[in-house]
Amino acid sequence: MALIVHKYGGTSMGSTERIRNVARRVAKWARAGHQMIVVPSAMSGETNRLLGLAKELSPSLASQAFHRELDALAATGEQASSALLAIALQAEGMPAVSYAGWQVTIRTNSAYTKARIESIDDQRVKADLDAGRVVIITGFQGVDETGNVTTLGRGGSDTSAVAIAAAMKAKECLIYTDVDGVYTTDPRVVPEARRLATVSFEEMLEMASLGSKVLQIRSVEFAGKYKVPLRVLSSFTPWDIDINEEAKSGTLISFEEDENMEQAVVSGIAFNRDEAKISVLGVPDTPGIAYQILGAVADANIEVDMIIQNVSHEGKTDFSFTVHRNDFARSMDLLKAKVGPALGAKEIIGDAKICKVSIVGIGMRSHVGVASNMFRSLSEEGINIQMISTSEIKTSVVIDEKYMELAVRALHKTFDLDQPSS
Ligand code: ADP
Ligand code: ASP
Ligand code: MG
Repeated sequence: MALIVHKYGGTSMGSTERIRNVARRVAKWARAGHQMIVVPSAMSGETNRLLGLAKELSPSLASQAFHRELDALAATGEQASSALLAIALQAEGMPAVSYAGWQVTIRTNSAYTKARIESIDDQRVKADLDAGRVVIITGFQGVDETGNVTTLGRGGSDTSAVAIAAAMKAKECLIYTDVDGVYTTDPRVVPEARRLATVSFEEMLEMASLGSKVLQIRSVEFAGKYKVPLRVLSSFTPWDIDINEEAKSGTLISFEEDENMEQAVVSGIAFNRDEAKISVLGVPDTPGIAYQILGAVADANIEVDMIIQNVSHEGKTDFSFTVHRNDFARSMDLLKAKVGPALGAKEIIGDAKICKVSIVGIGMRSHVGVASNMFRSLSEEGINIQMISTSEIKTSVVIDEKYMELAVRALHKTFDLDQPSS
């Protein structure tokens, strides 16, 4: 008998019929002799609906007090879906109980809308499991030290599931979603994308951080830190398929580079439209200039991603960097009002219509010319590269947003990702 954690995403919980299917699948696993913890997301569209209501009432307010209420509001989506799943399991004759984060307790810090899990109390859950009940725990939420409800950021139910699996020392955490695994890129953008049978933990970490929304980045970090066996698989297979077949389906996030691992140089392509580019033009090329610009941005609690400083010309230089789109207006205001004038900048320009496209693969460590292949492929499509950043196992470029899908498709082809690996 093993302890298993299942996580079901919003689409998988999207209607009472789908919730009934989830209940039947979970009951099958429990009847096969496993202790089961299930972490559901809110029914699809519910989190957006709730946050939309808040925006209608308060279009621009973004205070701490507002964020506290946003979390109290958004957390209700998972509370509803969890209770519905418990009801569906009971209707299937399977004893089940649902808990909100604060009832477990899932303790987080107080960073509303992006809280981090600090600890999970396993006692209550253990007692239920030992009594033969399926335990359902809301995804996406926790409670801070003073009892305020918090949420873990969009897509945070993945992180709840992996953190619970780590805390409860589960044998495996299965992430059930609306695709049947991790693909070479988002199959919605490239229909030829292929499912990977395994993907290394490092590649998954890069893909998640570079925009592949199939797993929230923090869930991958947790899996790495606590070595939680993690698999992504489909919730849309018939609920009564053979359990051993089901247990081997989807994509395994692997911690070892074994021989079975697919040995492609580039394993996947990630993209995101969440960033915006800012350029500070014509500042003096003197020591401390980067600090004065980026220090001011960091002091305003704005995270910077890519950075470029141009060679100087007649003692002046240009400086470009990217920030999250949500921070774009605030960054521009700050630079135009204070930093730019203080440094005598010639101009400050911004562009929110950019995207970042990245190739990821551990094979890049041992192969040369991968980045130049990427640049050639983009140039053949007439796509101009605005910024580049590299690490050991990835190369990212910033390009005009309107070429995103074209770039992803071209790169998918260039790196033979539509071909079965030999
Ligand atoms: P859930 O609601 O189950 O958490 P998400 O929408 O968060 O589901 O994540 C699943 C989606 O992630 C898929 O429908 C797919 O469009 C998208 N996706 C992006 N990149 C990838 C990828 N490399 N492999 C698989 N799916 C991906
Ligand atoms: N319901 C939350 C969201 O939509 C959390 C999740 O689905 O993982 O972001
Ligand atoms: Mg998700």
